[in-house]
Amino acid sequence: MKLDSKVPGGPLEEKWDKHIKDIKLVAPNNKRKYEVIVVGTGLAGGAAAASFAELGYNVRSFCIQDSARRAHSIAAQGGINAAKNYPNDGDSIWRLFYDTIKGGDYRSREANVYRLSQVSNEIIDQAVAQGVPFAREYSGLLANRSFGGAQVSRTFYARGQTGQQLLLGAYQAMMRQVHNGNIKYHPRHEMLDVVVIDGEARGIITRDLVSGELNRWEADAVVLATGGYGNVFYLSTNAKNSNVTAAWRAHKRGAAFANPCYVQVHPTCIPVSGDYQSKLTLMSESLRNDGRVWVPKKKGDDRHPNDIPEEERYYYLEERYPSFGNLVPRDVASRNAKNVCDDGLGVGETGLAVYLDFRDAIKRDGKESIESRYGNLFELYENIA
Ligand SMILES: Cc1cc2nc3c(=O)[nH]c(=O)nc-3n(C[C@H](O)[C@H](O)[C@H](O)COP(=O)(O)OP(=O)(O)OC[C@H]3O[C@@H](n4cnc5c(N)ncnc54)[C@H](O)[C@@H]3O)c2cc1C
Repeated sequence: MKLDSKVPGGPLEEKWDKHIKDIKLVAPNNKRKYEVIVVGTGLAGGAAAASFAELGYNVRSFCIQDSARRAHSIAAQGGINAAKNYPNDGDSIWRLFYDTIKGGDYRSREANVYRLSQVSNEIIDQAVAQGVPFAREYSGLLANRSFGGAQVSRTFYARGQTGQQLLLGAYQAMMRQVHNGNIKYHPRHEMLDVVVIDGEARGIITRDLVSGELNRWEADAVVLATGGYGNVFYLSTNAKNSNVTAAWRAHKRGAAFANPCYVQVHPTCIPVSGDYQSKLTLMSESLRNDGRVWVPKKKGDDRHPNDIPEEERYYYLEERYPSFGNLVPRDVASRNAKNVCDDGLGVGETGLAVYLDFRDAIKRDGKESIESRYGNLFELYENIA
């Protein structure tokens, strides 16, 4: 198989800009002659379908759920990064690019990550224009908070429901096009196969999940925006229908599929509590802003955490990574949590947990302030745990 990433040539910073300048355009009156299939209605598919339709193409949109609004993007909590540098703390497109490459363990495709960083500010503007209610400062300016893997504050957020609010924005843009007749919308349809003609995807086969009917759809281009597949692992924070079916079927038709082992492990899950559990629940990563991660220094120390004095606590992230502390990238935080548990220092009934402690933050900022920042999250997780 010939591996072709389709990344344009030229210097890193100019690759995609140059591509946009060089690309062959389709005139407005010709766009309506083309049909585009978009499978998936999460933040990727919803935005793609709305944008293609806005440009004038005929779009067909498919998803498994009964509503586009229920794509798993709705579960994202903590926020979305952009290099606007509102807090004036030294951020730039280059820094966002660098942090993202590092956060991906240096394995992501550099040109594409650079493009993401370049357009990050416009993505925030687009979301605001769609009505996404990002948190704001008292003055009315958009607020930022810190997140793992960065030494600047560049995360735009809507309390602990950023994904839900972003998805509602994308959904509204998409449904506007559905009502204008530019998108034909097919919820409760599972893609079973990709139709490939002369090496190009030119259609899909679907099953109507209500009637069981099989259908074939043809198009000039097919976009698969079918999300993650964490459920190949037994315990995952992904919804059960993030199930890799579409990507796997495309792979069987010849699409390249690489590095399935590179799945992100959330370091702030509610710990496993029993044998009958089939899912994990994420606690927002924003909690690592003020929560301190630690385990007892002594193996098998089963005292209540409040009874373990400061000098007997091992704040392993702060000690090992002093410049990032508890805000190390996720892979680093997860790997270190696993290592301390493997060393027998894990806490709780299973020994597979570490503490995320707000005692010092409450002492420093007051209970009210911490409650206003994280109160809704604490309440949510208390009910789940
Ligand atoms: C708990 C959690 C919290 C997160 N928090 C953050 C965060 O704070 N910030 C951040 O940047 N990222 C976060 N992420 C990651 C981020 O949410 C996802 O990477 C992103 O939402 C994926 O969007 P998507 O559009 O690619 O996929 P999804 O939203 O999963 O959408 C996939 C779509 O494909 C459809 N589909 C799949 N298979 C088929 C098929 N065979 N036939 C038809 N349709 C199909 C589904 O129905 C769905 O509509 C989080 C992820 C999780 C799980």
